[in-house]
Amino acid sequence: MATTGSKLKAAILVVSETASEDPSTDKCIPVLKKVFGDLGNDQWEVSETEIVPDNTLAIQKTIKYWTDGPEPINLIVTSGGTGFATKDVTPEAVTPLIDRHAPGLIHGMLTTSYAVTPFALMARPVAGVRKKTLMLTLPGSPKGAKENLEAVLKLLPHACIQAAGAESRPLHVGGVEKLEKDAGISSGGATAEERPQSNDPSAGPTRRYRSSPYPMLAVEDALKLISEQTPAAAVLKVPVDMRLSGSVLAEDVKATESVPAFRASIVDGYAVKIPATGKFEKGTYPVSIISHAQPGEVKELNEGEIARITTGAPLPPGADAVVMVEDTVLKSLTEDGKEEKEIEILTDEIKPNENVREVGSDVKEGEIILKKGEGVTVVGGEFGLLASVGTTEVSIYKKPVVGVLSTGDEIIPHNREGPLRLGEVRDTNRPTLITAARSHRFEVIDLGIVSDKPGTLEQSLRDAMRKCDVIITSGGVSMGELDLLKPTIERSLGGTIHFGRVNMKPGKPTTFATVPVKDNDGKPVTKSIFSLPGNPASAVVCFHLFVLPALHQQAGIKPLGLPRIRVILDEDVRMDKGRPEYHRALVVTKEDGLLYASSTGGQRSSRIGSFRGANALLCMPQGEGSLKKGEKVEALLMGKLGEVER
Ligand code: AMP
Ligand code: MG
Repeated sequence: MATTGSKLKAAILVVSETASEDPSTDKCIPVLKKVFGDLGNDQWEVSETEIVPDNTLAIQKTIKYWTDGPEPINLIVTSGGTGFATKDVTPEAVTPLIDRHAPGLIHGMLTTSYAVTPFALMARPVAGVRKKTLMLTLPGSPKGAKENLEAVLKLLPHACIQAAGAESRPLHVGGVEKLEKDAGISSGGATAEERPQSNDPSAGPTRRYRSSPYPMLAVEDALKLISEQTPAAAVLKVPVDMRLSGSVLAEDVKATESVPAFRASIVDGYAVKIPATGKFEKGTYPVSIISHAQPGEVKELNEGEIARITTGAPLPPGADAVVMVEDTVLKSLTEDGKEEKEIEILTDEIKPNENVREVGSDVKEGEIILKKGEGVTVVGGEFGLLASVGTTEVSIYKKPVVGVLSTGDEIIPHNREGPLRLGEVRDTNRPTLITAARSHRFEVIDLGIVSDKPGTLEQSLRDAMRKCDVIITSGGVSMGELDLLKPTIERSLGGTIHFGRVNMKPGKPTTFATVPVKDNDGKPVTKSIFSLPGNPASAVVCFHLFVLPALHQQAGIKPLGLPRIRVILDEDVRMDKGRPEYHRALVVTKEDGLLYASSTGGQRSSRIGSFRGANALLCMPQGEGSLKKGEKVEALLMGKLGEVER
């Protein structure tokens, strides 16, 4: 008996027609031996190997030879014959030999290989103990056999020792944790590799979780995770044109020209030359030059002459200042009577550069006119500044492209004609979320309605990730067996769910995930998926609270998300006992200049009407009873402030 001092004995039985005829074709024995060697902690010795055809009696005979003798083997692994082909009989051969079944090991093997390929489910493994020997049937492909053995090998010494009849109590000193530690595995503590996993949709309603496996996060923690996981804003060179408004600059912009680019007059009047004495005399002067605000050369002005000049026109070279037309009178006309000949200047209080805009006095060439991170706002000032110095191209942060889809077999287009059939629900979320994202000036792609079928959802999300940077879905994140978002993201798309539950009302099941993919050039990029709850009011609250800050961050827009203000309650507002609540409200300014908030009424998460007329979300703390009229509370401002009629 090989349980103490020496190593545990393992036997490998390959069940294969081909390999039994020509053992050189077998690849399983060397692969499995290597697994015992590499991962077996020096605890195993593969003492027997055998190859038999797919024949029940041959399989049973070999196994019994190893299990029923005086020196039984500790572990028998078979490889092959576990599929659905008619010749596959290994499970049927092994099952009658089992005294005690070990379904846990089967589950362990299937779970691990299912994560690699859904085809793992096409194996029919059995596991159990015969007399003092543990038996395990592995698939026939060397890769599959290896993966399955690797999945459970570390757990087997303990099982084999117990099966062999060793006194098991000492092994339990230190409990399961110690056993796990000895085996080099762990089940507790959610490290990155051991996050909670979503329901396995193929397991059906009876096997789904009955409470969410995702930890409940505080809103602040959820926002922090979003901020950490949101990809950095991409930078883009774009021409300076009208489309620029709403963008954020990704570089400091320097003026390549001065404004004004020439000495210009600030008024309509007469440019004069101040004599060397430094004192300009009143009197009558001939008009020798006319300078209009138009391009072209202007002659030099001599002492004793003046130049008629219009606002914004270039001063003639030699001119020192401009006298306003109001301080002059017309003295004489030219012979044809069409032009001014002489002008009397009525003032002698003229200083050099009076009424003159010097070159670069508005903007100097080379000066930084706009800083990285500054927005080209819709108000227009920044665009004007860029235009004034002739900037043709700037670097901006590329705004993420947003995709919006609704999920649910019951959801129909909102404008489908005719009465509803029982169970049908008009799509409220998609048009509302699209409108909300567009109102914040993001490009939005309408991804339609997706049914609650795993393959369909997976395909829709894959297509969406090709076109969009951020995908917003609604529905399918509750606890129903058809709630497929989380499993599809985790199990089919290889994404990471950063959170799947948030302590808030409405919007508890809000889910945020990222999926690593390659862009069209093969470059690795990260796509974000916000899976919002299906109830319309929840979806819209969560858009404002979670999606908008992420979109802002990815577009380089600051501050992130909705502006926070403090408002005075204009009526009592009930609190929720269990969770902080985002209560839809109308905030108005009153004559005293302060902000007052009143509720929009029923706050049930299905009632989109709670957003009607709302311009703010009151951040209500959790608690008993109500916050009273006159108390102050924080609010997130979604729209324009209202004004009470006066
Ligand atoms: P679910 O999270 O998918 O179970 O959805 C929760 C509730 O929201 C159900 O009553 C759905 O019918 C409803 N719902 C889901 N999506 C939408 C939608 N796009 N428009 C309106 N109601 C929806
Ligand atoms: Mg649904």
